[in-house]
Amino acid sequence: METYYNHINGEWCESKTGEQFENRNPADWNEIVGTFPKSDKRDVDAAVKAACGAFNEWRLMPAPKRGEIIKKAGDLLTERKEELARLMTREMGKVLTETRGDMQEGIDTAYYAASEGRRLFSHTAPSELPNKMNMSFRMPVGVAGIITPWNFPMAIPTWKIFPALVCGNTVVFKPASDTPATAAELVKILLEAGVPPRVINIVHGTGSAVGIPIVEHPDINIISFTGSSAVGKVIAEKAGRQLKRVSLELGGKNAQIVMDDADLDLALEGVIWGAFGTTGQRCTATSRLILHHAIYDTFLDMLAARTQKLVMGSGLDPDVHVGPLVNAGQRDIVEHYVEIGKKEGARLVCGGERETSARCANGFFYKPTVFAEVTPSMTIAREEIFGPVLSVLKAVSVEEAIAILNNTVYGLSSSIYTRNVNNAFKAVRDIEAGITYINGPTIGAECHMPFGGVKETGNGHREGGWSVYEFFSEIKTVYVDFSGKLQRAQIDNQG
Ligand code: NAD
Repeated sequence: METYYNHINGEWCESKTGEQFENRNPADWNEIVGTFPKSDKRDVDAAVKAACGAFNEWRLMPAPKRGEIIKKAGDLLTERKEELARLMTREMGKVLTETRGDMQEGIDTAYYAASEGRRLFSHTAPSELPNKMNMSFRMPVGVAGIITPWNFPMAIPTWKIFPALVCGNTVVFKPASDTPATAAELVKILLEAGVPPRVINIVHGTGSAVGIPIVEHPDINIISFTGSSAVGKVIAEKAGRQLKRVSLELGGKNAQIVMDDADLDLALEGVIWGAFGTTGQRCTATSRLILHHAIYDTFLDMLAARTQKLVMGSGLDPDVHVGPLVNAGQRDIVEHYVEIGKKEGARLVCGGERETSARCANGFFYKPTVFAEVTPSMTIAREEIFGPVLSVLKAVSVEEAIAILNNTVYGLSSSIYTRNVNNAFKAVRDIEAGITYINGPTIGAECHMPFGGVKETGNGHREGGWSVYEFFSEIKTVYVDFSGKLQRAQIDNQG
């Protein structure tokens, strides 16, 4: 068991409270992964002061140099990939093949960010007037407050912190209390790569004691948050009072459509991976399956047989397909929704109970669960569960399938399996979501493409790719007049 600290003003330090919290392995609750400082507003204030103090030096470093530091961070992540993947599995439970993928996403994001240091493109445009040039530049915003969830402990922090740094912002980072170890190791890597010590600060603790003070701090200029829609709304409201720039990546109720012309074996692989990967704890997890009525019974049988073969256990065991839920509270939520599903009349096809085999005895395991005969108005078809529960619905046409898919307050990811090009393009056009996969599951983002959703999944920003660099920088427009006289632009020269 390791003792971890905050990193504030260039030093690894205890919190002002002097108290600590434990991080335990959800597959074996007896194992303590590490202890972490239980911080409060005073620690946030110190971290923000340090980040403000470091801003000038960091913003004046040429962006390609900042990019070279992030490149080095990518190299260090590569060197430590296996070690940190194992740590991540121990602290949040998902299987090793997935935590290796989470690490790889961080590595890919580092190399993309490094190259972006040599782009940070903006526009030049012709002037209305002679002997005048118009251009624009990307400027850093200031101190970035970064608040992250536990389900992608490396990927999501890197999606935010690397672009924030390449754009010239300094950072105060609050990771989820369920995954503070991976976050702390990321900060160590950034420091080793050459990020100046006061530029990156990490403050561990709860959303109320640390997250809210970050959101409300007047010297934090920009906030990037990933988490639930409920918390996202609170953050938007608080940050709105100070007119802060805020990016919110929130919940989902993603659906996969399977048409009667689909390759059913392929669609089955997709839904098993989409629904039960990360034990269903992905913002992009498939939590609804919409089947064309002609293949409904056949596909449901295939799904039930396949789901019941999934092996649960510690994510470190190579024979295991599905790990535990992240904590007791998350398992309670899943159990609550399963009870609601039964009460509202959905038919439990498989799962619907805790996994109690010997190797799961000390963890928060819940069997992959499938409900059939779900209707769009049922709670399990509408609310995000964030666990291994799949609701199966029926549609008679592609139009009805898309209407059912859109019948949610969320709009993150979506998928359709079809061999009919017309169905595929109708889906692209008519599905209300930030991401649509054709013949692929609802999960599987690539770091160089925009990531985010519509409706209550966010507030219009995108992470990933080029789009996140727009979020982390301000545009400065510059006019250069070399005519040697006062020239009025057309807004001012109408006689
Ligand atoms: P959460 O909203 O409970 O917590 C997210 C982070 O916010 C944590 O660090 C938490 O400590 C902090 N926090 C909690 N309350 C806060 C407050 N009042 N003020 C400031 N910070 C606060 O979410 P979670 O349980 O960690 O993650 C699961 C949720 O995240 C799901 O809804 C999931 O869909 C969503 N998610 C979205 C994406 C995406 O990109 N859209 C990705 C992953 C997860």
